[in-house]
This record gives sequence, C-alpha cells and structure tokens, in this order.
Amino acid sequence: MTDSCPDHLSVSQISMLMRCPMQYEWRYIKGVKAPYPVALAQGNAMHRVLQSVNSYFMLKKKWLKEADVADIWRTVWGETQKEVEDWGEESQESVLVSGFDLLRTYLREVADETVPVACEEFFDVKINGESVIGYIDLVEKDSVSDYKVVGRTPSQKDVENHMQLALYCIVKQVKLGQIIALNKKKQEVTVIPAKFNCKEWLGWFGDIIDRYAAMRKAGVFPPCQPDSWMCSEKFCGYYKQCRGASRKKKGVRIQYVQIGGVDPRKAEVEDE
Ligand code: SF4
Repeated sequence: MTDSCPDHLSVSQISMLMRCPMQYEWRYIKGVKAPYPVALAQGNAMHRVLQSVNSYFMLKKKWLKEADVADIWRTVWGETQKEVEDWGEESQESVLVSGFDLLRTYLREVADETVPVACEEFFDVKINGESVIGYIDLVEKDSVSDYKVVGRTPSQKDVENHMQLALYCIVKQVKLGQIIALNKKKQEVTVIPAKFNCKEWLGWFGDIIDRYAAMRKAGVFPPCQPDSWMCSEKFCGYYKQCRGASRKKKGVRIQYVQIGGVDPRKAEVEDE
C-alpha cells in the first residue's frame, strides 16, 4: 500500500470498493482525485445546511426560519460551487434555486417530525481489528437517519439493505434507520424507515470488512463489470485514464488455440 492508502475504512470507501475496486485504487492507492461533480457538491453543501438546521434546534428548541435557512444556503452554496469542476447540465443558479426549494420542503414537511439529539456525529469503531469511521447525519432517541440528495428516491428494499444505515444502527445500538431522500428531480422529500437486525448485520460486516481488508493488503483491485451503470464517462471520474485509455494499451497478448469444432475439454461444464 502507498502512503495515500488510509489506515481506516469509511463506509463510503467500503461502498466504493464494492462498486468498483479499481476506482478505489485510483482514488485511495494512487491518490488521484476525480473532477468534483456538481451533484456531489450540492449533496455536501445541503448536508452542511441541514447540520446547521439541526444544531440550531438542539440549542434553541425551535427551528430556524425559512429566510435564515435561505441565507445560510446562499452562503454555503456560494463557497462550495467554487470547487465544482464538472457542472453537467446544472448551473450555479439552478442548484441555488432547487437546493433551497428542497430545504424549504424539508422544513415544512419533515423537520417537525424529528427531535435531533445529535447531528453529523463522528464515530470510529473497530470491526475485527479494522478501523471503520463515519458521520451520522441525524441521531434521535431511537433512530438514526441519513440524508441523501438524489435523482431517484430509494425503494423500501434499497433502504432495508442500506449498509451505511445498518452500521449507524449498530454504532448507536438502535433498530430503526431512515433514509431521508431529498429528490432533486421531483422536488420532494421522503422519509423511508427500515428496521435493522444489528446482530445479523454485525456478522455480515465481519465478513465484508475481512475480505475487503484482505483485498487492500494484497493490493489487487479488479475492475467492475463492464455493463455496470457506473463504468461510463458520465458516472466515473476516472473513466478517461482507466477504461477509456484501453485503446492505447499495448502488450496484451492473445493466442488463438482453436476456433470452431468441438471443445476437447468435454468434462468441463461452464455456467451460463
Ligand atoms: S472506468 Fe470502470 S473499471 Fe475503471 S474505475 Fe471507472 S468504473 Fe471502475
């Protein structure tokens, strides 16, 4: 492992390793940063504002006014947008407007249903000796929630299998995890709850962490399936230097052993 390989795993790193180990290698082993996309910037900026909203409630026991949230959002987005390197079809103004509309919907429809006791709470736990770190967006007495700024609202099944939420439930020893989806396309905010069996999930995390820690130690990071949605110029910030560079690749040897006829290795049966 190089110096840039972190000595801990975060849940987002584990997710990246599971989606595409080669992408993890570009980012955390080779230390190459992908262009900062507008969707990620908007998500990060909205998380910061929601943190302010929840922190204010914990201090004052009342919610910030919409006009105050609009001011905070304008400031935070004004700072964040300077770092955006990939705007796609968005603009500074379009995100400014849609971001505030979503925050206002959150304040009107969801905030009152929550009683924050902590927000953006940091944790560092060791699972089978491997350090796993993260931040929990919203902690309530009996639940944990994760904000997602999305183009597609996750299904109930997506939430029940949500690794991040499962880990947050384990860390806080609660059974109820919620995704609070802020849908940019539909301009709606949806709370999707799910119950997590912490004992079962901890057992599964043990397997996941062991295997991906072994992968990091071995330094072998295979690519994802070529038909994966993310293996495209639109969704992978490393596409140009990774898969997109394969046309120029030299030195790959292919040997034509037999074309046509009957396979002599009859005993071997391959899965379809
Ligand atoms: S181009 Fe495909 S294989 Fe390469 S890092 Fe991106 S998703 Fe992974």
